[in-house]
Amino acid sequence: MQEIIDAHVHLSERRDDALNRFARMNGLRYTLDELLGTMRRYKIVRGLLLSPPLVGGVPLPNDQVIRLCRRSGGMLVPVITVEPTAKEVKAAVKLAEENRREVKGFKVRLGYVMALAESPVFDKLYDYAESERLPVLFHTGDTAFSTGDLSRSHPLTLDGLANKREEMTIILCHFGNPWFEDVAELIYKHPNVYADIAGLITGGAYAEKYAEWLAKNISEAIYYAAGAEKIIFGTDYPVTTHSETLALVKRLEVDERDKEKILWRNAERVFGL
Ligand SMILES: [Zn+2]
Repeated sequence: MQEIIDAHVHLSERRDDALNRFARMNGLRYTLDELLGTMRRYKIVRGLLLSPPLVGGVPLPNDQVIRLCRRSGGMLVPVITVEPTAKEVKAAVKLAEENRREVKGFKVRLGYVMALAESPVFDKLYDYAESERLPVLFHTGDTAFSTGDLSRSHPLTLDGLANKREEMTIILCHFGNPWFEDVAELIYKHPNVYADIAGLITGGAYAEKYAEWLAKNISEAIYYAAGAEKIIFGTDYPVTTHSETLALVKRLEVDERDKEKILWRNAERVFGL
């Protein structure tokens, strides 16, 4: 039976969640009940829960992410968001140690925080991630707000880190959109670099043409990398809906076995699910 893993989900159930406007745009209630119901409907067996940004820019505290995962009865598993200060790095590692069996990775919000991926402030985080074999997800490419910093979220800013940290699994969120070719090269070049396809769909004029363009870019990245071993499915709920992101996978001009890798096999292996 086809199962699916969604490696990029947000949720808070808070009114000050900055993603509420995306939920409204997509006609979503953006609640735990709705999310779990939709996951079951689409046979999504697991979701990796990442902190959403709150109004004002700070991420939802990680302990609340862990609490929501506990309420999900095992369907959601936590990824710890790490901000670029020594204090936050220390707290993130401590939280991961205290919840060792639950935590499946870390996330760094490149483009939203004033730090590059290679900033020494993250050294202790990367040491821990490497030693525990926990992947580190990086926001890459376009930012959800016009105040984002593209010079720090560009996917090529991860090349140096991937060279230095060959044992650390690096996941580039959003396929570096719109720098698909750069990400194709990174996943081809580095055995430890992966990319997710979360949060790429947007509505508006030319939505259909844009969806075609996305599918073409991702398909071509797969041809360039000679396979889909490095590509991971994610919705970025509530930024995109489950049906839209699944439709994107369906559109890819690759064989069914590669789609299966994207939909769950790669995530299962990389996150040890
Ligand atoms: Zn996201």
